[in-house]
Amino acid sequence: MTISNAIKFKNSYAKELHEICERCVPSGFNKSEIVLKNYILAKELGLSKKFVESKECLEIFSGVSIPESSQPIAQGYCGHQFGHFNPQLGDGRAILLGEINNQDIQLKGIGQTPFSRRGDGKSSLGPVLREYIVSEFMHSIKIPTTRALFAIKTNETVMRETEQFGGVLTRVAKSHIRIGTFEYARSKSNKTLKSLADYSINRHYPELNQTDNKYLSFFAAVCDRQALLISKWMSVGFIHGVMNTDNMTISGETIDYGPCAFMNEYNPKTVFSSIDHNGRYAYKNQPAILVWNLAKFAETLIPLVNEESEKSVKQLTEVLQLVMPSYEEYFYKEHFKKLGLEEKSNKNIRIVKDYLSILESNSIDLTSSFRDLSKILVNDKKIKESVFSNIHNFDQWYECWKQELNKNQNLNIAKKMDSINPCYIPRNHIIEEVLMAVMNNDLSELNKFIKILENPFKEISKYQEYTSTPLNSDSNYVTYCGT
Ligand code: AMP
Ligand code: MG
Repeated sequence: MTISNAIKFKNSYAKELHEICERCVPSGFNKSEIVLKNYILAKELGLSKKFVESKECLEIFSGVSIPESSQPIAQGYCGHQFGHFNPQLGDGRAILLGEINNQDIQLKGIGQTPFSRRGDGKSSLGPVLREYIVSEFMHSIKIPTTRALFAIKTNETVMRETEQFGGVLTRVAKSHIRIGTFEYARSKSNKTLKSLADYSINRHYPELNQTDNKYLSFFAAVCDRQALLISKWMSVGFIHGVMNTDNMTISGETIDYGPCAFMNEYNPKTVFSSIDHNGRYAYKNQPAILVWNLAKFAETLIPLVNEESEKSVKQLTEVLQLVMPSYEEYFYKEHFKKLGLEEKSNKNIRIVKDYLSILESNSIDLTSSFRDLSKILVNDKKIKESVFSNIHNFDQWYECWKQELNKNQNLNIAKKMDSINPCYIPRNHIIEEVLMAVMNNDLSELNKFIKILENPFKEISKYQEYTSTPLNSDSNYVTYCGT
C-alpha cells in the first residue's frame, strides 16, 4: 500500500457520522487496467487528463494507493428488501474514499469491508460495465443518477456461477445516503438519527434550515424529488428491478444498477429481474413501491418531527398522502413534453392515456414510438414505415392529438420532441452483445456504444441497428443482481 497526494478529499461523512460507518482499507488490485475513463466527469471533478492517464490514478482507483487526505469508510445501512426488514446490510463491497466538490467518490467491488458478511466484497466486470453504460445514459437523458468515473478490470477472477473477470467501478454520487441509512441510524439512537438528518439537510437541502419544522420539510423535499425521479423512469420505460429501501437515495438520484433494464414493447407488467418472482418491482408497480418506501422513511423520522409521536405520524402521513398525486402530476408533465403538448387539460391527459393503451394493446416499442411519431408529424407518409403502420385505432388518436398541437408548428414540435425522446437507449440485447465482445477482449463495441449513448437524441443513419428491438422480443430476458 502506498500513499498518494494527487487528489484532495474531504471526509465529512467519516468525521460527522462515525457512529454509522466503519473505517476500512481497500484490498487493492495490483496490475489492474482502466477499461473506461469518463474524461468529462473527471474534468468536472477537477481531475486533469494528464492525471487520468497517470499510473497514480490507476493505483488510487484500484485501491493500491490511498490518497493521504482520504479516510476510507464503509457505510452502514439497513433495508426493507422485497418487503422484509434486513438490519444487516451496509457497504459489503464498496468503500467511500471521501468527497470531491461535495460529491462522494466510492469504489464498488473493491474487496471486503466490515459489512461483507459472507460475501467476497468483489464485483465481476460485466455488471460494472453495465452500471457504467446505464448510469451514464441516464445522465445523458437528464435523469438524476449516480455517475460512473472509471471502470476497472482487476487482475483477479471472481467466482460466481462461473469464473468471471473481476471489476471495480468508481461511482460518483451527490451522496450515498439511502432510506436504509436512516433505518440504520434510527436503530442506533435518536441522537445518531438527528445527526444524520442534520447532515443530510445541510448537504442536500440547506434551504430547509430556515423552515419551521425542518425535518418535516426534509421529508416533503425527499418525497418530491423521488416522485419526480420515478416519473422520469416511467417515461423512458426504465425498470429499476430492486427498489428496496437500501437502494433509494435521499438526494433523489437513481442508485444501484443491478438487475435494471429498459423495456422494449410497452407492457406495464414487465419484470426482468431473476429474483423478482412475484413482480413486486414490475414497471407498473414502481410508483406504489415509491410510496411504500417513503412510508418506511417516514417511520424513521417520527422521533424528529414532533415530540409527541402521534402528532408526528399525523404530519408525516399528510405529506405522504401527497406523493401519489404529485407523482401523477409529474408523470403527465413528462408525457405532455414527450408528445409536444403544451398545457395540462383533461383532454391532454386522455391523449396520453389513449396513446399508452395503443402501445400496450399492440405491443409497440416505447422508445421508437415517440421518434416515429415526430416523423409522421412532419410527413404523414412516414406512417407506413413506422411502428404505427396498420394499427387500426392509431388514425383516430392521431387526429385528436394533432388538434391539440400548436397549429402550423409541426416542424418545431417534432424537433422539440426529438430533443427529449431518445433515439438510442441501452437495450438489453445490445448490452449483452457489447459485454460479450469485452469478454473476448474486444473493447471497440463498448467504446462505440458509449459514444452513441452520450448523445442519444441525435439520429445517425449508420447507427440504425442500435435502434432495433430484439428479434424474438425480450419478454423472456432475465437480469441478475450485480454481485
Ligand atoms: P445490492 O444488490 O448491490 O444492492 O447489494 C445488497 C447488499 O449485499 C449490500 O449490502 C451489498 O453491500 C451486499 N453485497 C452484494 N454483493 C456483495 C459481495 N460480493 N460481497 C459482499 N457484500 C455484497
Ligand atoms: Mg444496493
